[in-house]
Amino acid sequence: MKHYDYLITGAGISGLVAAERLAKEGLSSLVIDKRDHIGGNCYDEYDEHGVLIHRYGPHYFRTQSKEVVDYLSQFTEWIPAHYRVLSHIQGTYYQFPINLTTFEQIMGRSSSEAEMEATLKEWRHDYPNPSNSEEAVLAQVGEKLYRMFYEGYTTKQWKCSPKELDPSVCQRIPIRTNRDDRYLTEEFQMMPKQGYTAMFQKMIGSSPLIEIQLQTSLEEIRAHTSFGSLIYTGPIDRYFNDCLGKLPYRSLRFEHEHYPHCDYYQETVQVNYPNEEKYTRIVETKHITQQQIKGTTITKEYPQDIDSSHPPYYPIPNPESKALYQQYAQLAKQESQVYFIGRLAKYRYYNMDQVVAMALQLVSKLTSPGP
Ligand code: FAD
Ligand code: UDP
Repeated sequence: MKHYDYLITGAGISGLVAAERLAKEGLSSLVIDKRDHIGGNCYDEYDEHGVLIHRYGPHYFRTQSKEVVDYLSQFTEWIPAHYRVLSHIQGTYYQFPINLTTFEQIMGRSSSEAEMEATLKEWRHDYPNPSNSEEAVLAQVGEKLYRMFYEGYTTKQWKCSPKELDPSVCQRIPIRTNRDDRYLTEEFQMMPKQGYTAMFQKMIGSSPLIEIQLQTSLEEIRAHTSFGSLIYTGPIDRYFNDCLGKLPYRSLRFEHEHYPHCDYYQETVQVNYPNEEKYTRIVETKHITQQQIKGTTITKEYPQDIDSSHPPYYPIPNPESKALYQQYAQLAKQESQVYFIGRLAKYRYYNMDQVVAMALQLVSKLTSPGP
């Protein structure tokens, strides 16, 4: 039987980075995934009309980490990205995140940073240490803007009140009193020039020490595979057969629609629909891939419970789930030669750059000479 230094469960970005780094150190891995493609949730593909789409929702690369950029730049060139989002409320497209232009749209006249700051000061609720997402937004912008932009979207997305979610969920969205309308604040905001999947192919294609086996689960092959250590990037509760209970996750359903006769369907890459519609957002990736092609494809995103055809995408951060995760993390510590990384195994709402950094750190620890 062939022996691998590592069995890596999950061919998402964290598993692939780990495999690439291990190979650089002369160590072999077998990377497996239940899905029929590499890339995990970052996977992008050309649809049947030739449009490059993100199968699992929009993936906007951004980071503050030079180390992550330098690392990924070995496998891709970058194109500048303009992640701009509108929020559609009762027929009006508001700039989002909330900024001075949004404020002017709401007031129906021109305004200034000073006026917006003074008004928000009046509108804000006094929560010096918000304990949930509702308090976090009320403390930033007050009730009117909370109800317009956040309450409906968050309830739809997470199937619970913002009161039941960690403040960090809604705090992901910046609030600005200037005219900066970028969705994200990180310094480096770029997209891989040929897409994520192309970047991953380059990452793993370079080494004979990396083998990929798709449509394969850990449960199926663990007992019949010879390996030294395991790197696991799937849901941590599943690894332990849910022995302490199931952790809550949210899933999504994606509906892709193609429009052959228009260059663009909407003005920006993303339009949010916080209120009436069943979907939360419509994404048109062509705006950020900058693909030159006739026709366009959009993706409507419907929040959804997890089930056999809707895998876990988001850990649901609240005090109970965090406490349960901590118990699983204790079990994880007791596993010998098993390393847990990535969004699902760490049960944290991590972005791509954060899991890349985590994989780099793990391999550096595993391959550095001991004391
Ligand atoms: P995953 O991509 O989830 O990969 C894990 C893989 O493990 C999966 O492919 C799964 O099939 C496989 N697996 C699990 N269990 C098993 C098993 N038992 N056997 C075999 N295989 C198994 N991040 C950003 O930086 N910017 C964004 O704009 C952004 N947008 C997002 C939008 C959406 C809708 C979602 C869901 C996430 C978004 N993210 C974004 C986060 C990003 O997707 C994650 O940070 C990243 O994909 C995590 O990578 P991972 O390798 O940890 O996990
Ligand atoms: N959110 C909201 N209204 C919006 C956009 C986001 O209330 O128009 C909240 C919602 O709870 C969401 C969170 O902010 O889950 C984080 O938004 P982000 O766009 O970062 O979500 P992701 O891309 O991770 O799904």
